[in-house]
Amino acid sequence: MDHFRYQENRLYCEQVPLDRIAEEVGTPFYCYSEATLEHHFDVFRKAFAAIDPLICYSVKANSSLAVLDALARRGSGFDIVSGGELERVKRVGASGRKVVFSGVGKTSAELRAALDYGILLFNVESQAELTRLNALAGQMGKKAAIALRINPDVNPVTHPYISTGLARNKFGIPTARALALYRQAAAMEHVTPVGLDCHIGSQLTSVEPFVEALRRIKELLALLRREKIAIQYLDLGGGLGIPYEAQQTPPHPDRYAQALLGELEGLDVTLILEPGRVIAGNAGILVCRVEYLKDGETKRFIITDAGMNDLIRPALYDAYHGILPVMRRFDREEVMADVVGPICETGDFFARDRMLPEFREGELLAVRSAGAYGFTMSSNYNTRPRPPEVMVRKDRFAVVRARETIRQLLDQETLFS
Ligand SMILES: *Cc1c(COP(=O)(O)O)cnc(C)c1O
Repeated sequence: MDHFRYQENRLYCEQVPLDRIAEEVGTPFYCYSEATLEHHFDVFRKAFAAIDPLICYSVKANSSLAVLDALARRGSGFDIVSGGELERVKRVGASGRKVVFSGVGKTSAELRAALDYGILLFNVESQAELTRLNALAGQMGKKAAIALRINPDVNPVTHPYISTGLARNKFGIPTARALALYRQAAAMEHVTPVGLDCHIGSQLTSVEPFVEALRRIKELLALLRREKIAIQYLDLGGGLGIPYEAQQTPPHPDRYAQALLGELEGLDVTLILEPGRVIAGNAGILVCRVEYLKDGETKRFIITDAGMNDLIRPALYDAYHGILPVMRRFDREEVMADVVGPICETGDFFARDRMLPEFREGELLAVRSAGAYGFTMSSNYNTRPRPPEVMVRKDRFAVVRARETIRQLLDQETLFS
């Protein structure tokens, strides 16, 4: 359920018509619906209400301060993967007790900053990281609560670039080595093993891989308890998929919760979840303007003023995004078209071979499901300033990140004189 709807053939975000925002802020722009974000968070939390888990929204999906603030006000915690993301969650006043830190390459500076903030849990991904964290915590006179991120070698059946729980992936610690590393951690002076963590991938469209991973984690939990290593937290990561196409039916959070809750009975742990895409993905769109139409040999190209630097998912993952006209007209025929950007790459497209209503020059179109891994993955490729981010609340909107200027981009550079 989202709050992007037509009213009298004009596309709205909540109670604000998108053409009005385009008029005021120009194009392209990202537009987020606060009510949709909140709704997605509430649905997710409610699904797990029986056990009241700690929900740590995955900041990298959409790290806009306004988004983080909306979720923090709802009681969300945060899963961070960098020192920059730590600064963001501090900025919205998140309690360190609700922050977990994941990632294979945490630097010493990042580990120190997180120790200083007193975060709940470091999800450690290697022996080398464990050793370094122990040393740093010692220097700071602190003790770090840790989980080991386990790589359960489960196939999440998603795009290879967002599969993270297979043996060949760089993430986590192989199950067979985990017990020995937990023993080492338990003997270290400045870390305390308190959790077990895994995150097997993103955009999963069935619950089975989650259940399979959890079963493997449970076997390890039993072994650890036998060794008197007191595990209090089970962090099952994020990864629940969303519908990008109407015919896609990824499991509803209720079904995901049911599947996990069945496996969790009697375990006496606090569950941590790190949803990203399922909260933010369908709470945002990218609005752009048709710059040119061009008829190729075999099809039509709709050339927009947004490109792969603004939204890279189609280029990177061959991802599908729905395309909607901002003004719906019923006098238009449908044509087969590619929606492409201005960038000098053949991968610069938003849709390919898609039946779409005939667009005309200057008209607005919306790229759907762009709220997660949209702006956060954007770049300045082709020296293109990144678009603004707009948040809508009921009948009001605000630019929550200004459009970059070319001046800003160039001001960071100097000649070598
Ligand atoms: C990216 C990531 C997530 C969020 O994944 P989604 O598919 O957006 O839910 C959660 N945990 C970790 C460790 C991640 O890297």
